[in-house]
Amino acid sequence: MPSQTPSVPERAGRPPRPASRPNGQWKVDGTAPLNGNEAWKQVDNGLNVRERIEKIYSRDGFESIEDTDLHGRFRWWGLYTQRKPGIDGGKTATLEPHELEDAYFMLRVRIDGGQLTTGQLRVIGEISEEFGRDTADLTDRQNIQLHWIRVEDVPEIWRRLEAVGLQTTEACGDVPRVVLGSPVAGIAVDELLDPTDVIADITARYIGVPELANLPRKFKTALTGHPSQDVVHEINDVGFVALRHPELGLGYDLWVGGGLSANPRLGERLGAFVSPEKVADVWLGVVSIFRDYGYRRLRNKARLKFLLADWGPAKFRQVLEDEYLFEALPDGPPAPTPTQQGDHIGVHKQVDGRFYIGVTPFVGRVSGTMLTGLADLLEQHGSERLRTTPHQKLVLLDISEEHVEPLIDALDALGLAARPSLFRRSTIACTGIEFCKLAIVETKQAATDAVLELETRLAGIDLPQPISLHVNGCPNSCARIQTADIGLKGQLLADGNGGQVPGFQVHLGGGLASVGRDEAGLGRTVRGLKVTADDLADYVERIVLRFLADRLDTETFAEW
Ligand code: SF4
Repeated sequence: MPSQTPSVPERAGRPPRPASRPNGQWKVDGTAPLNGNEAWKQVDNGLNVRERIEKIYSRDGFESIEDTDLHGRFRWWGLYTQRKPGIDGGKTATLEPHELEDAYFMLRVRIDGGQLTTGQLRVIGEISEEFGRDTADLTDRQNIQLHWIRVEDVPEIWRRLEAVGLQTTEACGDVPRVVLGSPVAGIAVDELLDPTDVIADITARYIGVPELANLPRKFKTALTGHPSQDVVHEINDVGFVALRHPELGLGYDLWVGGGLSANPRLGERLGAFVSPEKVADVWLGVVSIFRDYGYRRLRNKARLKFLLADWGPAKFRQVLEDEYLFEALPDGPPAPTPTQQGDHIGVHKQVDGRFYIGVTPFVGRVSGTMLTGLADLLEQHGSERLRTTPHQKLVLLDISEEHVEPLIDALDALGLAARPSLFRRSTIACTGIEFCKLAIVETKQAATDAVLELETRLAGIDLPQPISLHVNGCPNSCARIQTADIGLKGQLLADGNGGQVPGFQVHLGGGLASVGRDEAGLGRTVRGLKVTADDLADYVERIVLRFLADRLDTETFAEW
């Protein structure tokens, strides 16, 4: 069974953490750095590297880049070195980091709230074509990532992005990352609140400011006003989920302390109701608690979830109110369980009578050519707006009724499906060994091959609901393996002949709050249950057929 999130009353009043060695909490232990990362962050803030990229590194090339800039501060501007091609997963743990890395970068474009115009999409597509060997991925945090970027080209790329209102500022690093927002903000018929202005306000005031640019580690935000709870709020450091309070009207339920990776933990409700005009202040309070009280001694304990685990929600709320907001927040109930899926795939009516169409590529993999083609196609069909989603999908807005079917046909030809199979719809994959230095196995192609195979083998089978398949290339959880029906963690497996082959450890039964699932739960590792990459489709087919044969009445895969 999935693990359960303890309720607020059960967690309150826990005994304080016994005195121990300093954890590097600035407000408790002082700001003296307790490890190398904290030291270089204090010597020179990550944001300052931009000037050196503009003036020195782009002129003098990759070899001129100073080490703490290359492996540290570059992230503050969305830049990571990518993996050298041809190094197999068995060498990931044995080679030095510099032996794994190429002289090219992954560049992450942050798209707060997932909101894009066709003009912006075209610019990203053109940058990919001109500077990124036509690569592009939709991430599961509403960003778009490009690869094969040379440092020499970065200033020109920034110039083009910023000319259309896009940025890579704090797309990676120990900073407030992209703010996830409902992909149907401002257009859905059944929306409770439109968080667009709040997201714009947070981004404009607090992204790229030195006061919040040295956090203990990354800080993730999610905000939705849609009842489908479409922003995976349970696994963010702070989440705001719209609901109607019986006395106070519309506002948000506040969640804090979620995060996956090697120590997964679901966020917890603080039991507080946040009115729309207070969201930015509460967000600033939570991120400030993280900056001031977050653990900085050990990087693997430096996410907000570890502080929340020690404090509990009651103390966290008290500190937030007493030291940062200087007022008490009203109590509030939880948001109701979603009654519709939050990936927004398919055709849906907008509040203005036009339609939005959710489409999916395979596992987030697109290309510059596809993005520029999509921009052209949308404009030909009268639309200039679209959204990225936290599920590696796109939502295309403002489509008049007469354009819906012709556009769907044209999108299909482009590789974007509005009526995908349930497997294509619910499979996501992380970057994997193709570009990621931490990867042990390949992911995107393995997942795509499995989906294509399953579409053929199970073509006549009527699945009651999508079964989510999340494919990761290593024990980190960029593709959220612990929140999938079937989560796959990349590792090398013995081939029986003394060698090794790429494969996956299986996690089962995870999921976030969704239709038929009242509460989020983390999947369980099934000991000994491992599958090779070549056998992936066989394994999924077997488990799906067994589920269909065994399930009782309306039992879902999560309940099975
Ligand atoms: Fe890389 Fe691992 Fe994250 Fe995949 S899960 S992108 S392999 S770090």
